[in-house]
Amino acid sequence: MQHFPIFLSTQGTRIVLSGGGGAALAKLRLLLKTKAQIEVFASDPAQDIVDWAAAGQLMLTRRTLQAGDVVGATLFYAADEDDTEDNRTATIARAEGALVNVVDNLQASAFITPAIVDRDPVTVAIGTEGTAPVLARAIKADLEERLPATLGTLARIGKGFRNMAEALPFGRPRRDFWRAYFFDAGPRAVSAGQDAVETALEDLLAQHLARDTRPGHVAFVGAGPGDPELLTLKARKALDEADVVIHDGLVSPAILELARREAVMVHVGKRGFAQSTPQNDINAVIVEHASQSAQVVRLKGGDPTVFARLDEETEACDAAGIDWHVVPGITAASAAAAAIGQSLTQRNRNSGLRVLTGHDVDGFADHDWRDLATPGQVAAIYMGKKAARFIQGRLMMFGADPRTPVSVVANASLPDQSVIASRLDRLNHDLSAASLTGPALILYGLKPHTAHAISASLKEEGVL
Ligand code: SAH
Repeated sequence: MQHFPIFLSTQGTRIVLSGGGGAALAKLRLLLKTKAQIEVFASDPAQDIVDWAAAGQLMLTRRTLQAGDVVGATLFYAADEDDTEDNRTATIARAEGALVNVVDNLQASAFITPAIVDRDPVTVAIGTEGTAPVLARAIKADLEERLPATLGTLARIGKGFRNMAEALPFGRPRRDFWRAYFFDAGPRAVSAGQDAVETALEDLLAQHLARDTRPGHVAFVGAGPGDPELLTLKARKALDEADVVIHDGLVSPAILELARREAVMVHVGKRGFAQSTPQNDINAVIVEHASQSAQVVRLKGGDPTVFARLDEETEACDAAGIDWHVVPGITAASAAAAAIGQSLTQRNRNSGLRVLTGHDVDGFADHDWRDLATPGQVAAIYMGKKAARFIQGRLMMFGADPRTPVSVVANASLPDQSVIASRLDRLNHDLSAASLTGPALILYGLKPHTAHAISASLKEEGVL
């Protein structure tokens, strides 16, 4: 973040601009929305500028800017659209202590003006540090569409009600009240005018004051395989509302970013066998927060019902009398299958899918190898990287075809996703050669669709 976004108070400040053409007009349209005193220096100003001056909206001086003109100003815009003139005026302004923006010259500017979505007093500023103005415009257009035009009105009316809302206890109850106002009661009342909104606020407050404090609650939420776009809408909503987010190492930083800024983030790391937070401690942390009335999100990679020790945590909640629910997520097997472009089940091939773990509490997990070794079986093997050699040995021992395709997908759905197309007899060799980092899922019995294949072994064979 080379440029730090802040909102500048303009009340009682002076902003000076040099220039009278198109660039000056564009900046002035924005600046006139502020509370600052605007002063323009231009020998040949556009008609709009002359009109604004006549209407008392800005002060116009019909000459080029000279030393002394910027003294005491907070901001200065060099908008003459002429490098030499912009350089001259910017030098004066810097010397006189103003923060300088030279229009369309990032290098020479001490600040830049973001793209703005204006729902005054709600304003959204969008910046790309000059790298992608097209992107900034696209984001702006998107937000313009999404944020109702009445948002500013609701915010303004709501502001007048802030003192009244202090009758509610600080924190969750007050947040719930404002959320209900902005996203439900307010928008419903606003078309009927300010009085209707004020009545709606009073009714809503009475309702919320009559409520018992909301008891603690735990949502066991699936964060999906890593790509934030694979979160469900329910997961997003739970994150939006969480007071506390308890997550493990599998949840990607991009997803954690989506939690409320005020939410307490608790990392309870577990990775394969190396369990850094014992399960009992995790249970205790969940119960402790929820017992203090917090809305807790227990965020788990993939789906919370797949190899995620959900039951131990729900039992701990039950024992403590805490309410909970589960929000499903996209499990790694689905993301891995998508990565190789294959179905997990297929008519005439496999009518069932096995979901297996390579490890369990006792070490390498045992399964019905004899059955799995029969032709056409498909298994999604979680936590199988270290167990690959063991799995390979067992299946071959029980007579599986050594040429059975096996795909390994690491970091499924993430930018560093990688796919190894291997075969049962080469699985251990291919896995060691690839030295994958990050979580990996083994799809036994599936080979990548040709369009998705990136395989060292197939390349060796000259197939690719
Ligand atoms: N609840 C999770 C599974 C947790 S067990 C789910 O439903 O996906 C952890 C194992 O999941 C890892 O060892 C790995 O096998 C698999 N896994 C999780 N995320 C993955 C990803 N993005 N890519 C590949 N495998 C993943």
